[in-house]
Amino acid sequence: MKTYRKELTFRTKTRRAYLNITPQVDAALAESGIREGLCLVNAMNITASVFINDNESGLHRDFERWLEKLAPEKPHSQYDHNGYEDNADAHLKRSVMGREVVVAVTKGKLDFGTWEQIFYGEFDGMRDKRVLVKIIGE
Ligand code: ZN
Repeated sequence: MKTYRKELTFRTKTRRAYLNITPQVDAALAESGIREGLCLVNAMNITASVFINDNESGLHRDFERWLEKLAPEKPHSQYDHNGYEDNADAHLKRSVMGREVVVAVTKGKLDFGTWEQIFYGEFDGMRDKRVLVKIIGE
């Protein structure tokens, strides 16, 4: 069995952002040389998510509005976590959107369902944050 590990780094210009990282994961898979196996992609920070959904900008605005209803950023004082930090909402948004995805690797390609793409969800950005890609197989 072969294993492959790569860290991707993202720094968004805004506090919250949704990035399609499928091209970077595709590139990592090609670099790994693995043809059959599993590809794990996870956020390495507790205020960011990796999730799979549709690459449609309207849907991303819907996610943003929905998450702001569930866990509004402001007022910062509404959260017990916010003392030295102001990112309680980002921790909650990350919990809803999830930590990681696993995609099957078949014949050297990410074996997606219809319209599936991999996204990085940033909820407390404007600094370097890491995403881990781990691929195992042969
Ligand atoms: Zn925090």
